[in-house]
Amino acid sequence: MNRSRQKRKGRKEHKGTGHTQKVAEDICAEEILRADTLVLGAGASGLTAGITAAERSSVIIADGNDRAGRKLAVTGNGRCNFTNAYCGEEGYNGCGDGFVSSVLNAFSVEDTLEFFSEAGLMTRLEEGGRYYPYSGQAVSLIRVLTREAQRRGCRMMLGDRAVSAEGKAAGRNTGSERFSVLFESGRRIVCRNLIIACGGRAGLKTGSTGDGYGFARAFGHTLVPPRPALTAVESDAVFLTGLKGVRAKGIVTLCRDGRKIAEERGEIQFTGTGISGICVFDLTRCMEGLPPGSGKRRRDPEKKAEQEETVYSGDSSCPSFGGPRYDIICDFVPEKTEEELRILISRRQKEGRKLKEILEGIVNEHLAETLSELSSATAVSAASLLKNLRVPVAHTKGWNEAQVTCGGVRREEIDPLTMQSRLTEGLYFCGEVADVDGRCGGFNLQWAWSSGAVAGRLGGRTAEERGSRAGSGSGNRSEDE
Ligand SMILES: Cc1cc2nc3c(=O)[nH]c(=O)nc-3n(C[C@H](O)[C@H](O)[C@H](O)COP(=O)(O)OP(=O)(O)OC[C@H]3O[C@@H](n4cnc5c(N)ncnc54)[C@H](O)[C@@H]3O)c2cc1C
Repeated sequence: MNRSRQKRKGRKEHKGTGHTQKVAEDICAEEILRADTLVLGAGASGLTAGITAAERSSVIIADGNDRAGRKLAVTGNGRCNFTNAYCGEEGYNGCGDGFVSSVLNAFSVEDTLEFFSEAGLMTRLEEGGRYYPYSGQAVSLIRVLTREAQRRGCRMMLGDRAVSAEGKAAGRNTGSERFSVLFESGRRIVCRNLIIACGGRAGLKTGSTGDGYGFARAFGHTLVPPRPALTAVESDAVFLTGLKGVRAKGIVTLCRDGRKIAEERGEIQFTGTGISGICVFDLTRCMEGLPPGSGKRRRDPEKKAEQEETVYSGDSSCPSFGGPRYDIICDFVPEKTEEELRILISRRQKEGRKLKEILEGIVNEHLAETLSELSSATAVSAASLLKNLRVPVAHTKGWNEAQVTCGGVRREEIDPLTMQSRLTEGLYFCGEVADVDGRCGGFNLQWAWSSGAVAGRLGGRTAEERGSRAGSGSGNRSEDE
């Protein structure tokens, strides 16, 4: 064994335990590995694709992380909200083109629940149709998935990132292999089916760094420009500083260049430099053309005076950032109209009460203080602020904080019946690498399970089955050489 191979083997032997370590040792004994199906990415979609494909073919699941399902561990605040009883096309971007519904129909929420139940996971249904592992721990679901992958004979190759993927096995094609994937360690895997399950860029630290986009481009695919979403927004509004830690229930309305484009209801969380909360997260999916921030934004003290003079109620002018202008309008009392609130405040003012005192009887005390400072002490302006507090959006939080990527491999270039590339036979995509993103509440993981199962189904067909399909004329879904 030459030096570099020895070094690689030594590195692998420290990683993983039990089955994983055994597989790592086996793998290190070879220079070039072969498999019917190679799945790039051992996240939610990749594990599902691998498990499904392994029913009928030999499978290697490879991941740059040294453990599978790393992102899954942080989902749902460590509890993993893995699906939603109300998952439907309307919860995803681009609804109406039939792409997502085709995949969800092929592997539905019911199929997902059955799959996990058979694999040994007990689940719990909570408010809003959200499903979690009964244990309350994401790790339960990860263990169930990785054990299932092992039980089905998937070989896990962890701790080694794929660096390039190409068609044909670069001179080593023995006839059946169509792809050759090179890894950081220098190892190469040749395979007939390549399933790209590398995720997007959201939650960067968990390993999804956007490599899948490069692999897709190498095969001629194009992308809808990726941007971070399901994250908090940052604002230059100075009044937010005093609201750090405040939570208030209400309705948030997103306006682009002054026009309403989306609305959500829920708990608005003030962070001191912006606003957060699930309802705000869901709005960020609609913020096209907004640059992501670093997450470490500092206010410009020079601008402070100017900002303090900005009126934060209604549709007044606000700082602009070149692209479209986004504002989030907060309604803290959805049950009452502005006119009803004006009458109520005015009546109490006539009784001799101060505005701050009146507002304290309606909303959180810190919010009451801020609103009374922002208002011109009249019932009209106070009612307007209660119904229309405007938070101008400077940017969304960056890739580290984002929960999902909007954009990715164009759906027109993927056949939703198989998740196979329309450009390259045997190449499949699943999960977040494709241009599909959903709202909070289990929608994104459901997409990962559904698209993973669909990709793995056809990617895993045996040579025999492919032969019979070719005979019956399977069009661009044929996998035959
Ligand atoms: C903090 C957080 C909380 C979330 N909470 C929820 C929730 O509660 N419910 C919900 O539905 N969704 C949630 N999501 C979104 C959900 O987790 C993702 O949409 C989903 O995990 C995407 O699955 P995936 O398989 O496409 O990608 P990932 O899970 O990102 O997996 C991709 C894998 O590919 C590997 N990889 C990437 N490049 C390479 C390479 N070059 N070589 C080898 N391996 C590579 C990565 O290491 C990674 O393990 C959350 C996301 C975050 C970040």
